[in-house]
Amino acid sequence: MLGRTRAVALVGLVGHLVDVESHLAPSLPAFTLVGLPDASLAEARDRVRAAVTSSGLAWPTRRITVNLSPATLPKTGSSFDLAVAVATLAGAGLVDVASVAGWVHLGELGLDGRLRPVRGVLPSVAAAVAAGHPRVVVPRGNVAEARLVPGAQVLAADSLAQVAVHHGADIEVPDVEPVRDVVSTVAVRSDPDLSDVLGQDEARYGLEVAAAGGHHLLMVGPPGAGKTMLAARLPGLLPDLDEADAVEVTAVHSVAGTFDPGGGLVRRPPFEDPHHTATPASIVGGGSGLPRPGAASRAHRGVLFLDEAPEFTSAVLQTLRQPLEHGELVLHRAAGTARYPARFQLVLAANPCPCGHAVGKGLACTCRPEQRRRYFGKLSGPLLDRVDLQLEVPAARAGDVPGECTATVAGRVVAARAAQRERWHGTGWRSNAEVPGRALHARLGADRPLVADLERAVDRGTLSLRGADRVLRVAWTVADLAGRAAPHRHDVAHALVLRTRGHGA
Ligand SMILES: [Zn+2]
Repeated sequence: MLGRTRAVALVGLVGHLVDVESHLAPSLPAFTLVGLPDASLAEARDRVRAAVTSSGLAWPTRRITVNLSPATLPKTGSSFDLAVAVATLAGAGLVDVASVAGWVHLGELGLDGRLRPVRGVLPSVAAAVAAGHPRVVVPRGNVAEARLVPGAQVLAADSLAQVAVHHGADIEVPDVEPVRDVVSTVAVRSDPDLSDVLGQDEARYGLEVAAAGGHHLLMVGPPGAGKTMLAARLPGLLPDLDEADAVEVTAVHSVAGTFDPGGGLVRRPPFEDPHHTATPASIVGGGSGLPRPGAASRAHRGVLFLDEAPEFTSAVLQTLRQPLEHGELVLHRAAGTARYPARFQLVLAANPCPCGHAVGKGLACTCRPEQRRRYFGKLSGPLLDRVDLQLEVPAARAGDVPGECTATVAGRVVAARAAQRERWHGTGWRSNAEVPGRALHARLGADRPLVADLERAVDRGTLSLRGADRVLRVAWTVADLAGRAAPHRHDVAHALVLRTRGHGA
């Protein structure tokens, strides 16, 4: 007897349909799973057997062979339990074979037969629908997420018994308490308002430019100057995610287990602020079973904020090079390779020196020169090369007053972003920050005086060639914010002010 159904294997954010076939032979009782199962899938045997008997169904005393194919596909995680169970019940003739074959089954089974929510339901259901299999059974805790997929016909269940009865089993469905959401702690985020920041006019403008052009940003200033407050207000200045980005960002958080489907798709740019004691794995992602996206991927299409950036280990700072360059993170695993998108806006904050008082008034810096060098040395090179904006954030002053609110500034950002989209239409670049120097120069055309200013700075040695490109990128954004079709000389001068910190020119 043969029972078959379908499940979904996730490789990164990409779901692949898996055929689950259970073959029952009248031979010595045994239960084997084949098809490259990882360790957690082997444990599935015990869970499935216990769940079946707990549901008031008899475990078939046959030689049971469950095959998951294609065999070459890496299968990780516990989401295959339900499919293995129903295929086996179908093979035993305890449920309707055709009914089981018509559905995709997702979910982990508890020993008591309850269905437990799994991570990655959104991309899994999307893959099933795209492959022409819109009927999907999911654990109750995943139903809101599954229903976000257009075209999906979702059946929510609390237990294996409920699913079996749906497929024609002749049993009593025991009353069970449904297992709630897979998401344990999701902080409901409301973007704090920019008007909370007193004074800091130049830093606020720098933040606006960063938001408008998508530029990575370094803020240097003494403790308490408001760097963290400013960084936390950057996502609020960014426009809503478009539909494609919202689906992708939501899929990342679905796989990460950090998504609350109650509010629908993630439509606002995420904000991730890992602590400086973070491990490379927590930034990149990993873990057993279905790998969890790390902070860099959870910040996809949003903001990754490293407060006290020089305090992060060099290993962590190194891991950022790949996503900064390619916009994704590639996790190499025994079972295969997973790719998670990681195209974030990087915000770094640093004190002026390890003790924090190098520019403070009245407080003496106690750092030795080599300590200071080492402090910033960690950030230099490949990382700072990609940071267009480097701002000084001075200590707050008495009498500082609140500035504009988030909504006002965000309005200008939206207009500036629209101008960029139009200018770079058809190039694949969305914002000035993504545009290479060559294209920026080409677009300027015949505006020689402006280029001459930059070339003079390069000749004088106050600006590197890469630095000149960064200034030009920022100058375009300054012009976009002012509603100008191209930067003027004073936009370049303004851009120079926004990045001429002492370090990393
Ligand atoms: Zn110091």
